[in-house]
Order: sequence, then structure tokens, then C-alpha cells
Amino acid sequence: MEMIYDLIILGAGPAGLAAGLYGGRYRLNTLLIERGQDGGQIAITSEIENYPGQMVDQEESGATLTARMTRQAEKFGVHRAGATIAKAELSGPVKRLTDTRGNVYEGKTVILATGAHPRPIGCKNEREFLGKGISFCATCDANFYEGMEVFVVGGGDSAVEEAMYLTKFARKVTVIHRRDQLRAAVSIQEKAFRNEKLHFMWDSVVDEVSGDGILDRMVVRNVKTGELTEVLADPEDGMFGLFGFIGYLPNTELFADAGLEMENGYIRTDEDMQTNLPGVYAAGDLRVKSLRQVVTAAADGAIAASRAERYVSELE
Ligand code: NAP
Repeated sequence: MEMIYDLIILGAGPAGLAAGLYGGRYRLNTLLIERGQDGGQIAITSEIENYPGQMVDQEESGATLTARMTRQAEKFGVHRAGATIAKAELSGPVKRLTDTRGNVYEGKTVILATGAHPRPIGCKNEREFLGKGISFCATCDANFYEGMEVFVVGGGDSAVEEAMYLTKFARKVTVIHRRDQLRAAVSIQEKAFRNEKLHFMWDSVVDEVSGDGILDRMVVRNVKTGELTEVLADPEDGMFGLFGFIGYLPNTELFADAGLEMENGYIRTDEDMQTNLPGVYAAGDLRVKSLRQVVTAAADGAIAASRAERYVSELE
């Protein structure tokens, strides 16, 4: 007979890794399933400054923080599986997760920690130019645009911070924002307005992108006047970069028919991370909450694991 784990955690971002650490320390027979690399969204974050207890004089990247979190969870005995789950049956006493190869993982409890992904820019032909001019990760792709022109869509903390990071590589960076005022924190705005390589197109959205295999043209629309501006790549560059930082969408499609209560695609929990299904918890960016940060994801994971431990002990 297949093993039934005490706890299965789906997703190895900060929420899932913290849940793994706590699950292991509670001596729950814990399996942590991840389809890609550990770290989730922070795996590609260049710098993390606001996780409590970090050495502020030493630069911490998402990758280095993740590596320590992974080591710590594994030290306390969490089992690992690399798999993409395609089906989630969560309502019975035994929770069943089936991967794309047909393997079945069973648990008495499950913590859903699959996080979120960047919201698409929403322009015509966007998919065609993913990785061919369009990117959602400055850390991953900035050096590709060394000396070129780059555009950033968005006006929040991420857009402005990543735009500033991109000025270290690109010749010119233009932020395209749909309003005439940034959402980013004032301290971040002040730095941005002092940066001579940084420019702004206000009240603007990207309607359409095009090019012959690589991005070399886009149409930007002024939402107030309706005026259309055609942006063309410098012939010497042959292309330009377009980065999107306009928020995130929850990775919850997999659970659409699992019987979970949701709000705009985010999973509803109580303050103990308990969903409406017994033994099923949600932790991190995929749940309804007010602050989505590494510190709150880690806290969610710890709380969810502690509740799972209580649930399992009450079954026995
Ligand atoms: P965000 O704060 O939600 O900002 C999203 C930006 O994208 C907003 O400016 C929004 O415009 C724009 N936007 C949304 N949908 C759009 C669309 N369909 N078309 C065009 N523009 C669109 O997201 P975020 O910047 O990713 O930040 C997420 C959270 O992480 C925030 O709580 C943020 O404070 C935090 N964060 C913190 C730091 C830091 O502390 N250093 C760094 C990064 C992120 P409007 O302004 O018009 O709504």
C-alpha cells in the first residue's frame, strides 16, 4: 500500500519551505512537492532587504535566502518530490494529489502554497514575444539589454525598483504607467526621480507589440487623450526590452473544482490558515490577505504546519 503522509506541502516558496521546516520539527511525516526550483517568486529577486534578522550590510538575494531555507527544512527531515500536480482531490479524509505522470501522493493534511505569478501586460501579441523582448524578471534578463533601450510597465514598488535596477544595464529606461502618479512608496519615488536614466510615460498603456521574431515595435496609447504613439527600436539595437511589473495573479487554477472557498481566485482561510475543507490549509501569496511578503508567507507556513500537527494528533 502507498504511504499516506501526515502532511503534504504543495509549493516550495517561502511559505512552503517554512511549513516544511515546522512540519519536520513537529515530527510529522512530511512531503514537500515542487515542480520547478525552490523559492517561488523570490528565486528571481535580486535583493531582499526586509526579511527580519538579515545582515543589512550583506546583500541578500532571493536565491541565497531560499538556499538557506531549503537546507533548514531538509535538515529537519522533510521528504522531497519534484513533480507537477495536475489533479487535487481535497475533500475526503485522505487528500490525493496526482501528478502529470500519474503518480499519486496521499496525505492526511495538505498545505497549499503554490504562490502567484506575474500579471500579463495585456497587450496584443504579448505571448509571441515572451523571451523575445518581453520579460517579467529584471534579475534574469537585464544583462541582455546592456546599452539598449528598455521599457517597464507599472507604477508600484516592483516596477520602480526594477526600473532603477535596469538602469544599471540599459542606456535608457522608460516607465509606462496607466496613471499620472506612481503607487510606489515615496522613498522609492524620490530615488527614481533623481535617476537621470529613468524616464516616464504617464497615463499610458501598451496596446500592441510586434517585430520580426524579436520585439522592435510597440503602440502605446494615452488613456486620457486616446493618442497612439508608435515606439520603434533604434536601428543599431534592432530591438528593445519590455518588462511587466503590474502585480500578480494567484496560482490556484488547479484547485478550481476542489471545493475550496475563493475570492477573485485567492483562497479564503481563517487566521490559522484553515480553508473551508478540514485538513486543508493555504499559506502565502495564494490566499486572501493584506500583505504579501516573504515574512508573511513564512509566518503563514509556520502557522499552517502547527494547525496540521494539531489536526493529525486529533485523528490518532
Ligand atoms: P502593486 O503594488 O499592486 O502595483 C501594481 C502596479 O501595476 C500599479 O501601479 C498598478 O497601477 C499597475 N497595474 C495593475 N494592473 C495593471 C494593468 N492591467 N495595466 C497597467 N498597469 C497595471 O504590485 P507590486 O509593485 O508588484 O507590489 C506588490 C506588493 O509587494 C506591494 O505590497 C508592494 O509594496 C510590495 N513590494 C515591496 C517592495 C519593497 O518593499 N521594497 C518591493 C516590491 C514589492 P495603479 O497604480 O494605477 O493601480
